Amino acid sequence: MDNNATMSVRPGVLEAMLPFFREQFGNPSSVHWAGRAVNSAVETAREQVAALINCSPAELVFVSCGSEGNNFAIKGTAEALKEKGNHIVTTSVEHPAVLETCEYLETQGFEVTYLKVDKNGMLDLQELEEAITEQTILISVMWANNEIGNIYPIDKIGRLAKKYKVCFHSDSVQAVGKISVDVQQANLDLAVISGHKFGAPKGVGAIYIRRGTRLSRFMHGGHQERNRRAGTLNVTGIVGLGVACELAAKNLKQDAAKIARLRDKLEQGIFAAIPEVKLNGHPRQQLRLPNTLNVSFAYIEGESLLLNFDMKGIAVSSGSACTSGSLEPSHVMRAMCVDAVLAQSSIRFSLGTDNTEEDVDYVLQELPPIVQRLRKMSPLYNRDKL
Ligand SMILES: *Cc1c(COP(=O)(O)O)cnc(C)c1O
Repeated sequence: MDNNATMSVRPGVLEAMLPFFREQFGNPSSVHWAGRAVNSAVETAREQVAALINCSPAELVFVSCGSEGNNFAIKGTAEALKEKGNHIVTTSVEHPAVLETCEYLETQGFEVTYLKVDKNGMLDLQELEEAITEQTILISVMWANNEIGNIYPIDKIGRLAKKYKVCFHSDSVQAVGKISVDVQQANLDLAVISGHKFGAPKGVGAIYIRRGTRLSRFMHGGHQERNRRAGTLNVTGIVGLGVACELAAKNLKQDAAKIARLRDKLEQGIFAAIPEVKLNGHPRQQLRLPNTLNVSFAYIEGESLLLNFDMKGIAVSSGSACTSGSLEPSHVMRAMCVDAVLAQSSIRFSLGTDNTEEDVDYVLQELPPIVQRLRKMSPLYNRDKL
């Protein structure tokens, strides 16, 4: 139940990739027969990705991962538009691939506004509008949050970006493949997707660059990808990404309904069985990704819960997967002003298409005794309860 960290390739994806390791090993940039066949597979994949997010295939550039895409989008805009202004608006709950890129740009003379969120992790659009100045060159807001699952009002933010003529980027990594993503309707100029979060292999992603968007190169070298990104394409990964996009587009509604039903069962089961549990994220399930549930188990460290779960074969994450290993509460919990102790006790369950009803039943069976045992050992619990 850690699918927001990664998931396995969906059935059909690996099979589609296999021929491109051996029989069709050509370099898609080669003009000879070996390259041409491979190039046509890459272009098919480009069409499959474009269809999922509603853009033109020519507006897509394949990249190595979501982190690269976000670096490309943000640094590339900053570099291309630095004569125009030096201000970026983003949020305090972005993935580190966005936050740390913005922090880096602050060392290079850019100014960044990190919008606050409320206790449910939601943004105030009036605050966003007021943050825009003459100097603003980029608005970057994630489509959905990886830790709490909140879905942000990207369409409305897109209208604001259009009104003020500011370039609009969204880290769409958690949204794509889970909910409907339409970059036209959202008025996006830049959007980033990552294959391994929705059934394609690791090491491949794509960036949507609206036609006419000014974006500096990030990778210098050959003239691949219409001169937007150098480097021989990851053909097998790209073929896998295309098939995963096609499967996601075909099954989006059924998958979301099935996963949401399991998630809701898990959510209700936890709240029914265990006292002093707090939900992190928006209480309305429709305003969260269908697969994500983040809860704090008061008096227990998330890390101990995670390890006890691990011994039962259950994989979840505490805080953000990327910050696990440190006991600092996650920046998302801090931004929501979750009490420090509760923030330490948060656990993220993120379900995937592979999860079954039995998985949920198993978690609901194992969880209460673990929580009870850990609370008995907790000095905080004993201070408050005994
Ligand atoms: C996983 C993730 C990323 C990073 O994607 P990688 O492909 O792992 O580099 C970026 N943003 C969000 C919201 C993510 O969940």
